[in-house]
Amino acid sequence: MDNTELRAWDNGHFVHPWEGMAAVGQNDRTFVETASGIHIVNDKGERLIDGPGGMWCTQIGYGRTEMADAMAEQARQLAYFSPFNNTNSIATRFARELAKRAPGDLNHVFFTTGGSTAVDSALRFIQFRNNLMGHPDKKIVISRQKAYHGSTYLAASVSGKERDRLWLDKADDLAHFLPNVNPLYRAEGQSVADFLDEKIADLENAILTFGADRVAAFIAEPILASGGVIVPPEGYHKRCLEICRRHDVLYISDEVVTAFGRLGHWFASKDVFGIQPDIITCAKGMTSGYAPMGAAIISDRLIADIAGNDATFSNGYTYSGHPVCAAAGLTSMEIIEREGILEHVRQVAPVFQERLHDLRRIGIVTDTRGMGLMGCVQCSLDGNKTSLLEGDYEIGARIDAECQKRGLLVRPIINMCVMSPPLIISEDQIHQMFDVLGDGIRASVI
Ligand code: PLP
Repeated sequence: MDNTELRAWDNGHFVHPWEGMAAVGQNDRTFVETASGIHIVNDKGERLIDGPGGMWCTQIGYGRTEMADAMAEQARQLAYFSPFNNTNSIATRFARELAKRAPGDLNHVFFTTGGSTAVDSALRFIQFRNNLMGHPDKKIVISRQKAYHGSTYLAASVSGKERDRLWLDKADDLAHFLPNVNPLYRAEGQSVADFLDEKIADLENAILTFGADRVAAFIAEPILASGGVIVPPEGYHKRCLEICRRHDVLYISDEVVTAFGRLGHWFASKDVFGIQPDIITCAKGMTSGYAPMGAAIISDRLIADIAGNDATFSNGYTYSGHPVCAAAGLTSMEIIEREGILEHVRQVAPVFQERLHDLRRIGIVTDTRGMGLMGCVQCSLDGNKTSLLEGDYEIGARIDAECQKRGLLVRPIINMCVMSPPLIISEDQIHQMFDVLGDGIRASVI
C-alpha cells in the first residue's frame, strides 16, 4: 500500500497525542494497517510483535472474529441510545459482570469513555460525596511523583510525571505529590525496609500537614505504569490503606493498566496486593482495546453515605455504557474466561520476568522492573542509575528503531522501554520477544 500522500497529510494535520512542537509537520509515523494475535503489520508489509500491547490494552490479541461479530451484531440491534434516562441490557449485563469480579463491596459501576474520564468521574464523585456529607473543605487529593492518571483536566492535575506538567495548566491547589516510591532511588546505604517506612511516613505526614479534614483521597496505580513500571516495595499498598483508613481518607486504586489480567487476575488490588479500595478505576483491557470504554467502580459504602439525598451527580457522558463498547467488553471477558487467559498469565509471567531481568547483563541496562506481563528496561549510556546524560534521552527511541528492524515494536519512554504484550503471548513468543529486545539494546549503542 502506498501511503506517501496520506503520510504527508498525517504529518501536516493530524495532531497526535503528546505531539512534539519542535518537529511538527516533520514526523514520519509508522502506519499500522492490520494485526492478528500478538502481531501488527505496517504499511511496508512488515510483521512485528506488539511489545506494548497497543497501550497496555490488547489483552486477548488482535483480529478476533468473535469480537468483530459481537460488536457488529450489537450495532445492528442497537448501536446507541442515550444512557441518561434510559438503559440498555448489554451495558447492564456488563456492569453486573464487572461488579461480580471487582473485590468486596465494589458493586456500583459508573461507565466512562476511557481511563481519564474514569479517574475524573471518581474524583468528581468524591467531591460530590464530601459536599453532601458536609465536608466541603475535604478536597485535596494525594498522588505520587511519576503517577499517570490521564489527560482530562482533573486527571492530569493528579498526574505526577514532571515532563507532562511543564507546559500545561493544572489545578495545583487540588493535588499534592508524594516523592518517588521507586526503591532504585533510595539513599545510599538505605535498606528497602527503611525506604518503605519513609514512603509510608510521607503519606501520613502529608495528611497531617494539610489536616485530615482537608484531604479527600489518595490515588495510586498499584504499579506506576507509564511512569516506568515502578513496583513499590512489598507491603506498601496495605500500609498506605491503613494510613488512609486511620485518617478517613478514601483510597482510589487506578487499575486502568493492572486490571483484566495484566497481573494474572481480573483486578490486582485485592488478589495481588491484598487491599480493598473504595473505588477502582479501569479501562484499556476492559474491551481488549476493541472499543473505547472505562469505569469507576464504587463501593456500596460510598453510595450508602449519600443515597436518599436530594442531589444529582451531574457528571456523565453521551457514550456512558455505549452498547457496542459493552458488547466488546462482555465478549472479551467471556474469551478471557473460556480460554483461561488469567491462568495463562500466571503461568508464563515467571518466564517473562526472568527474561526481562536477564537483560541486566547488557552494559547499558541500569535497571529492569516488572510484574505479571508488565516490564520496563531502563538504560543509561554511562551506566549511571540516577542521572541522565544528554544521549540518554534518545536511547529509548533508538532501541525502538533497532527492535523494529528486527520485528519487534517497543514503547520508548525517554531512556526506558516498557513492555506489556497481549496476554495470549506464548512462552516461545516471550523468548523470541526478549531475544530481539536484547539484540536491539546492544545494537543501539554501537
Ligand atoms: N490511568 C492510568 C494508570 C493510565 O495508564 C492511563 C493511560 O495510560 C489512564 C489512566 C488514562 O487512560 P485513557 O488514556 O484511556 O484516558
